[in-house]
Amino acid sequence: MSADRGLSRTIGPGRLEIARGDLTRERVSAIVNAANSSLLGGGGVDGAIHRAGGPAILEECRAIRARRGSLPPGQAVITTGGALPARRVSHTVGPVWSGGRSGEPETLASCYGASLALAEEEGLESVAFPSISTGAFGYPIEEAAPVALRAIADALKTARHVRLVRCVLFSESDLETYGRALAAMVTG
Ligand code: ADP
Repeated sequence: MSADRGLSRTIGPGRLEIARGDLTRERVSAIVNAANSSLLGGGGVDGAIHRAGGPAILEECRAIRARRGSLPPGQAVITTGGALPARRVSHTVGPVWSGGRSGEPETLASCYGASLALAEEEGLESVAFPSISTGAFGYPIEEAAPVALRAIADALKTARHVRLVRCVLFSESDLETYGRALAAMVTG
């Protein structure tokens, strides 16, 4: 897997990459869905994942919802990838932005951490994320990018199975924003 535009950082035994692309086409062990609490699908990347992955994903989401109710922000559950190239999909619910003083950064970091913890539990090797909360949920991407990258870097440091995490950005300007945040991030 190439770093596309050379935007990557080695962290412990793993690698963090940022790239522009369509998350649903990622050939990784798991992709992460920016879901909503209902787990019943929505717009944005959620809609794209269900469209590309087919009905098996929604079927499992419904079963999870029937078992444990709606999913609180910051938590994650994992399902099949259905027809996607990725074998698994982690569904996590980002915070809705309401000014930044309602625990949004902590909840956002928890989305990344919880998804990577599930990947670890399943012994998965590679995970790709969208930019959680920065679409319909209104989190300013300049503020979300450093939170996302820090949470991923922290998880990678202690990961036993996950060796590659990719942040897949839908637009060039989102990629540039993540690029600046990656360049500014202190690791090591
Ligand atoms: P949220 O509700 O968490 O804000 P959205 O799906 O509205 O989630 O947006 C999250 C991000 O996902 C946005 O930056 C959006 O542009 C991006 N996005 C939408 N479709 C895709 C896709 N197929 N691949 C990667 N990113 C996508």
